Amino acid sequence: MSHFNYFDNNATTAIAPEVFEAMVPFLTEHYGNPSSAYGFGKKVRIAVEQARAQVAALINAEPSEIYFTSCGTESDNAAIWSALRSTKKRHLITSQVEHSAVLHMGESLEQQGYGVTWLPVLADGTLDLVTLEDSIRPDTAIVSLMWANNETGVLFPIEKIAAICREKKVLFHTDAVQCPGKVPIDVKSLAVDFLAISGHKLHAPKGVGVLYVRKGVPFIPFQIGGGQERGKRAGTENVTSIIGLGKAAEIAKENLIEEQTRVRAMRDRFENRILELVAGARVNGNRAERLPNTANICFQGADAQELLAILDEQGICCSAGSACTTGSVEPSHVLSAMGVSQTDAKSSLRFSFSHFNQDSEIDRALELIPHLVETLKQKVTI
Ligand code: PLP
Repeated sequence: MSHFNYFDNNATTAIAPEVFEAMVPFLTEHYGNPSSAYGFGKKVRIAVEQARAQVAALINAEPSEIYFTSCGTESDNAAIWSALRSTKKRHLITSQVEHSAVLHMGESLEQQGYGVTWLPVLADGTLDLVTLEDSIRPDTAIVSLMWANNETGVLFPIEKIAAICREKKVLFHTDAVQCPGKVPIDVKSLAVDFLAISGHKLHAPKGVGVLYVRKGVPFIPFQIGGGQERGKRAGTENVTSIIGLGKAAEIAKENLIEEQTRVRAMRDRFENRILELVAGARVNGNRAERLPNTANICFQGADAQELLAILDEQGICCSAGSACTTGSVEPSHVLSAMGVSQTDAKSSLRFSFSHFNQDSEIDRALELIPHLVETLKQKVTI
């Protein structure tokens, strides 16, 4: 497609060319098993350990605190399962706006008889810390709260949440899948016990994730088998993707400033012009405490699914609700939890940018979107 504008980077990202290059030798010549005793395998082991160090550097962790998994979902599941089993407690605290990786796990735990407290959010998508503090009980095994919301980009105050959990002596897991390269992560200055990352959100391949587990925190494996990942995550390593993730972590660290400046400026220009040009448009979520790359906009009076389809015809990729629930006509659970009406939630689209986007793409979108929204609104009123 000649005019193809990818504005759905919270769903997944393009593999960076340097990441691809780093991976190729491990798909071709270096195919040894990292657990093998001979040099051909050991070479691969060294590369995996280098990737572990690169990921550790991204979040200021020790390499020994990094476990490679198959995805963000597995990392989230593994952290919660481990806490429930190691503490032998049966209560989880999470929020109503989590990604399905935590949301559906919480629902499944409830069905199995565990207690789950679903923290509400305020109208701007932020969290009331007093409610969190009041929810912690003697039988609470873990608090699991996302750092950045994938739909709105709204950031929870992770430092404060972590401090509350530490003071109350309860384990804390954060789903930081949307954060690498967009917000600084420093686990040494943050009282988190577990932190989840996913490769495909930071220009690495799909099918690889990371679980950070703070040194000294008990970690009971979710997946049982061989002794890979120091016995904490069995299964032969997804070597190629791990190497890619290592390289992507290194680049994400370098790109943080660009994401906070150029990408943020691009997002703000897009958002501000849309608000000026489209009558009744407004932003969902707190505009200050937000990822620099995400714009969730309600186009009042237009149907988001139809808008999505006509934008698709123009080669513009964005999203209505999170990618995992697309296809269902249910309004977004995130926007509903923020008190957005069903009609407005069904009129909302998410645009999420990356450093691969150019200003010329924003110009094109700004030329097309106001006109397309007006056409749709007229269709609704006829
Ligand atoms: N958590 C958040 C906030 C996400 O946005 C996603 C993916 O959309 C996930 C978890 C799941 O990650 P994965 O697709 O690697 O399982």
